[in-house]
Amino acid sequence: MTRHGRLGLEPGNGLLRGVRQMPSPNCDDRPAGVAPELIVIHGISLPPGQFGGPHIDHLFTNALDPAGHDYFQEIAGLRVSSHLLIRRTGEVVQYVPLHRRAWHAGKSSYRGRHQCNDFSVGIELEGTDVHPYTSAQYRRLAAVIRLLRRGVPSLAVAPVVGHSDVAPGRKTDPGPAFDWARLHQLLEPGPGRRR
Ligand SMILES: [Zn+2]
Repeated sequence: MTRHGRLGLEPGNGLLRGVRQMPSPNCDDRPAGVAPELIVIHGISLPPGQFGGPHIDHLFTNALDPAGHDYFQEIAGLRVSSHLLIRRTGEVVQYVPLHRRAWHAGKSSYRGRHQCNDFSVGIELEGTDVHPYTSAQYRRLAAVIRLLRRGVPSLAVAPVVGHSDVAPGRKTDPGPAFDWARLHQLLEPGPGRRR
């Protein structure tokens, strides 16, 4: 099992401890007075279906080489990001501080409220709609969500939804491969599990 740093939250600057920091320029301020209240789960792999390469980092930092793969030509010009990525190994990468607006959801709405980027935190899981996500990813995702709910007051009771839930018909990730029941089970305080 890969070893990872102990997760924590830096007070005041929206950065997680125990994760790899890779700042993305693709972010801006949330609208005045708006705090994150929603957690959006995504799936991503670059090239699609291939895991472990540097290309997600490159996409989120505008350094993707369009010549690297046919698919990269389509997406190299995108200006996108996410707050966090959880890789297949469970490694966590942070691209955008939590209090800033990451550009992950695009045209989206949750319960009638539009532009989910304004009021959400985006978490990418390295994967596809059809490859089972790894145990390390579920464990790490649950730990991150617990940390966010505990450490960011506006996220204390934040719902967790998929990109497909807030952009139906346009996005399918994290896909049928994502086991929501498993995540909810990990998030439940149970016997022998610390809250
Ligand atoms: Zn997505």
